[in-house]
This record gives sequence, C-alpha cells and structure tokens, in this order.
Amino acid sequence: MTKFCIFCGKPTNKKNKEHVIPKWLIKLTGNTKRNIQLGMVVGEGKIGNMTFAFNQFQFPSCTKCNSDHAYLESDATKVVVALLGSKPIETKQVSILLNWLDKVRIGLWLGYLYLNKNCFGIDPSFYIADRVWKSDRMVAIYRVDGDTDGINFSGVQTPTFQHQPSCFMLRINHLYFFNMSDSFLFSARLGFPYKVSRSTNTITMAKGAGFAKYPLIRKSLISPAIDFYQPIIPEGLLVTCRSLYDQDYVHKHSFDWARGIGAIFGQISGKIIQHKDPIDTGGLSNQGFQKNSKDYWKLLSQVYEFQNHLADRYDPGEIGDATKRSDFKKTRKHNKAINNLLIHKLMKKQVSCALKYKFLGA
Ligand SMILES: [Zn+2]
Repeated sequence: MTKFCIFCGKPTNKKNKEHVIPKWLIKLTGNTKRNIQLGMVVGEGKIGNMTFAFNQFQFPSCTKCNSDHAYLESDATKVVVALLGSKPIETKQVSILLNWLDKVRIGLWLGYLYLNKNCFGIDPSFYIADRVWKSDRMVAIYRVDGDTDGINFSGVQTPTFQHQPSCFMLRINHLYFFNMSDSFLFSARLGFPYKVSRSTNTITMAKGAGFAKYPLIRKSLISPAIDFYQPIIPEGLLVTCRSLYDQDYVHKHSFDWARGIGAIFGQISGKIIQHKDPIDTGGLSNQGFQKNSKDYWKLLSQVYEFQNHLADRYDPGEIGDATKRSDFKKTRKHNKAINNLLIHKLMKKQVSCALKYKFLGA
C-alpha cells in the first residue's frame, strides 16, 4: 500500500508521523508505556488480534500538515480536561471539541485502513483535512462509573465504519463521547435549508422551516448527561444556494455565517436550546451508568445501531451506474448484518463475541 499523509492524502516518504491517539491523551488516561489492543486486524492474508505500544500507534503525515493541526491538540486538551472535571466551557470550545472528534474519527479510520492493508479495497475520497468542520456534527457525552481510567474506542473496526466513517464512540476515563457527523444530519429538523435529492451533477435543496423540531435526530438516542449539535453548511452551497442561506433564521443561529459554521445547540427536557457562554457541564458530575449494567451494554450497542441508521440515510438512487448501485446495496446489507450481530452479542453481554470484534482500547 502506497504511503499517504493521513491529513491531505498526498504520497509521503517522510518519516514524520501523527499520533492518532495523541500523547497528551495517553498521559491523561494512564501509563504512557502501556499497550493498546486493536482487536481483529486483517493483514498479509492473516486475521488476528493486534497489540501495539500506545506511543507507536501512529501513521504517516507531511511535516507541514502535522504542524498545521498541532494547535487543535493543545486547544482540545483544555476542553477535555474541563469536561472531565465538570467545569464550565464556552461555545467556541465545543466547536474545538467537535473538530477534534472529526480528526480522531477520520484518523482512526485511515489508521485501520493501513493496519488492515485496506482489505475492503476502499479508495479514500477524503482525509482528515477534508473532513474537519465539513458536515453537521454532534456529540452526546455520557458518564459511566465503576471503571479504571483509560481510553477505548468503539465502532471503528466494523465494515460499516470502514465504508462510512461517520459514527464512533471514544471513552476518556469516566466520560464516553458518542460522536456522529454526516451531511445534512439534522439541518432539516433544525429549520435550516436541507437537501431534498441529489443526482450526479445536481443537488435539489429546500429552504427549511425556520424553526427547530425536537428531537434533532428522529432515531432516539439514549439520554446523555449533555449533548451538543452544530450544523455546518456544506462547502460551496453558500455560493450556489446563497439565497436559501441568506435569511435571518440562519444568520441568527450561526457562529460564523460567512464560513458556514452554525451555532451550538443542545436538547434539554424535550426542547431544543441554543447554548450560550458559559455552558454549565455540572450534569457530568452526577452519577452515570454503572459499568456492566444493562444501560452500559445498550450504550455500547448504540454506536452500531447508529452506524446502520447513517448507512440507510444514503440514497442508492444517487448512484448513476446500475452495477455500482446494485453492489452498493449488497455491501450495505452485508455490513448492516454484521452490526446487527454485534448488537445482539453486546446485549447478551458477550463482549468478546463472534468475529472477535470488541470494544477496543487499553
Ligand atoms: Zn499532508
């Protein structure tokens, strides 16, 4: 497999590498010399469980790309530390957290592509730099009590995620960050302009209602301690569909309208609210789910359920070629069946389940 930079995708022979799980996070969650278990990894015609020294879990990057994104790590550290201590944060820090989760999610996707020797034959059409701050995104934060400090990430090794890296969960000590990002994920329910349909060269848009509807995502989510939703206007649409977006409602509910960045929303007691500074995160100090309780297993299953939900959002009718359309449908059906099996096993509390998929980490 040709080496490419995980930020920009350009071929790189440089020795420079990016830690997908940054050093500050490894330090914050335990011994820096510990190993990370990566679960089932396919490579060189073999399938096996792979263990890495945590500080070796790194992938190629250009020197410039690496230094261009360094600021995000130092900013994200402050937000994560504040959340772990249930301290107030600002709305701009939520944007940073969501950017950082975009980076980690896509970094893990490309990292697994490397480790699996790209066994699914995926031709990445985007890299970290193309996917940070590009689509509607959300994070729901849960507290789980009764576990030791550590990092885990779930959902990243499934074929569904390998084909559509839009949903994963990251544990940092007692907090679980359930993260999703997809085009127009909740723009319609938020009252923003949204996509009606898309064909090869045309996108049909609608104006949007101009008011928000609860819940922002129709498929119900386990109630978190706190959640954040941020709409992002897809690149180019502020030019091609300017009149749709140039309306009071969108201006009022944007963080930076000219750059297509929406404000930060949340859901409290059945209502949609727009978060204002400072954001009280005191709810994170309340008692959470107990590890190994029924709710805990439900939480782990939720990632696989929403990966299937996001896979279903894609309309195969957008694929012009009939053979490719049929292949897409078959692959999606197969991938969803694997997720359903994982959900079934998790709900039976069989963590080390069939196919050796499991909640990964150290
Ligand atoms: Zn690069």
